[in-house]
Amino acid sequence: MAIHFYRNDLPEGLSLGKRVAVDTETLGLSLVRDRLCLVQLSAGDGDAHIVQLDRSSYDCPRLKALLADQTVEKILHFARFDMAMIERDLGVMMSPVFCTKIASKLARTYTDRHGLKDVTREIAGVELSKQQQSSDWGADELSEAQLKYAADDVLYLHQVRDGLITMLERDGRLEMARACFAFLPTRARLDLAGWPETDIFAHS
Ligand code: MN
Repeated sequence: MAIHFYRNDLPEGLSLGKRVAVDTETLGLSLVRDRLCLVQLSAGDGDAHIVQLDRSSYDCPRLKALLADQTVEKILHFARFDMAMIERDLGVMMSPVFCTKIASKLARTYTDRHGLKDVTREIAGVELSKQQQSSDWGADELSEAQLKYAADDVLYLHQVRDGLITMLERDGRLEMARACFAFLPTRARLDLAGWPETDIFAHS
């Protein structure tokens, strides 16, 4: 397992295959206030690739091309947030996506614990540390602990996806999951446009 760290953009010639785990770290959770700091990627091979973005320009053509590539499935946990952040700051709407949180809600109906830590423990048998979750991701020099935490958030997503697909198929829910994923760009755009708390399908 290795963690590769890059400033501003992915290196030239890096290929991560047709299914890439993606996560982001931001200054906070507000789509209005907080900027995108890091994008983490993994091909599911045990390596993590972390891009520290230039927040004054977000000039990262290779990263943007990968995120926009329609032939590459992006695996995320709670994709809605990262999709909104990435569209806002990088101008790219990720598609197609596989959201492991939605998949977990549809597959693991015996629990209401759908956080990445819970899902990864159960499906991949890995205990994630959440200690660095609320650290300063805007720092120019990130600590080893921060990089390890950022990497952990993408390293097991392929395994989690595969486990959840098995469960969804078993119970005839995979098609419903795919339909939910297809709506995610619209959901993320509603968040950005000012309807973050509204269930647009609700009666009232
Ligand atoms: Mn994360």
